[in-house]
Amino acid sequence: MANKGLLLVLSGPSGVGKGTVKSAIVKNKVFPFEYSVSMTTRKPRPGEVNGKDYYFVTEKRFKEAINQGELLEYNRYVKHYYGTPVAPVKKMLDAGNDVLLEIDVNGARKVREKMPDGVFIFLTPPDLHTLHLRLEHRRTESEDVIMGRIRQARKEILVMQDYDYAVVNDTVANAVDHIKAIVDAEHVSVKRVIDNYRKMVRED
Ligand code: 5GP
Repeated sequence: MANKGLLLVLSGPSGVGKGTVKSAIVKNKVFPFEYSVSMTTRKPRPGEVNGKDYYFVTEKRFKEAINQGELLEYNRYVKHYYGTPVAPVKKMLDAGNDVLLEIDVNGARKVREKMPDGVFIFLTPPDLHTLHLRLEHRRTESEDVIMGRIRQARKEILVMQDYDYAVVNDTVANAVDHIKAIVDAEHVSVKRVIDNYRKMVRED
């Protein structure tokens, strides 16, 4: 039987560029994976295709999906529902394919509760990285600006602590490279391959 695939969860604060990074991974076929198409009640944007970008559904259908337990997670974001259909994700993982979810931080938290074996990647804004150093070494901004930044950075860092990896989205190409490196490393992590070796040793 094939090994189970990796569940890759790409998330991060809104506006960080998750969608752009995901599209670059999909477009450039950076590594082999299946993309989990979410269900949403928002209207398609020009160029978006039903069944490829999202399953665009009515609120009635979405609520039915919630009640029937069809969703791995869902969230309401800016007046619309977004959710991950669970059946295709399980099927793709069981077939040995890696599955990529690009979802918001609330959804990612719910997925972590249900599928803790997933690989949780937090995309951070580029200035978060330098913010720490700046705040430590410089005191040129007014106190309330510094406090505002610290509050914001704290909130983002607190969310990050539930993830396995933090990838800085300074450029899309860099972020994609880091994500590829993470996926490659996860495939050879001992906790994921040990069972194969246990079987091999027993068979000898
Ligand atoms: P957009 O409307 O710009 O395509 O997406 C808005 C937000 O919804 C983004 O932050 C995106 O990551 C998030 N999102 C997309 N699909 C899902 C999903 O299935 N579940 C959750 N929780 N968030 C999603």
